[in-house]
Amino acid sequence: MKLIFLGPPGSGKGTQAKLLAEKLKVPHISLGDILREEVRKGSDIGKRAKEIMNAGRLVPDELTIELTRQRTAQPDCKNGFILDGFPRSDAQANALDKMNLNLDKVVYFDVSEDLVVIRLSGRRSCKACGSVYHVKFKPPKAEGKCDACGSALYQRQDDEEKSVRTRFEVYQEQTKPLIDRYRSMGRLVTVDASGNIDEVFSALLKIAGDG
Ligand code: AMP
Repeated sequence: MKLIFLGPPGSGKGTQAKLLAEKLKVPHISLGDILREEVRKGSDIGKRAKEIMNAGRLVPDELTIELTRQRTAQPDCKNGFILDGFPRSDAQANALDKMNLNLDKVVYFDVSEDLVVIRLSGRRSCKACGSVYHVKFKPPKAEGKCDACGSALYQRQDDEEKSVRTRFEVYQEQTKPLIDRYRSMGRLVTVDASGNIDEVFSALLKIAGDG
């Protein structure tokens, strides 16, 4: 199954994509994770993306389009994948159409802005393995430490208030219009993303025909 997860920052796309990808045994392709890895490695792409990401703006389309094209062409994507955080602009959506990937569904994570702010401000991430926690809704067993690998947790710079505000504006202006595009193509499925992790996951399993 080939799915796109679309929704505002903090809607839970990444958390759910990870869970569903494991269940469906398909790769979880997160453009944010791929870009953060480039930043960590200090590659040319990472150098171009770092400041833009920290400020909460979109990195240039040509970069994300090329990264997506390369990643989805890998053999492990043949039978399906979950694309999390792409497309985020008209140009990206146009490029995706041209990739002819035979996408099954676009899942829109519907959630209020108030809840999203609460989720993002409490989010903590593991730099080493990418696991994601929330100080209140999904706390690690030992404070500040990753359950999976024991490394220290940190707050993403773009989860700080100023960047969060910019990310919202960017979402409203550039990404939200894509909802109508996919709705008119008959591909859009909306999931109520305001529930807890288990509730949203059950809804997703039904959408994926596995629950
Ligand atoms: P995320 O982890 O999905 O919240 O993405 C973190 C940041 O990576 C975003 O705020 C952007 O700066 C960048 N990014 C991720 N996906 C894209 C995309 N499709 N287009 C442009 N920038 C992106």
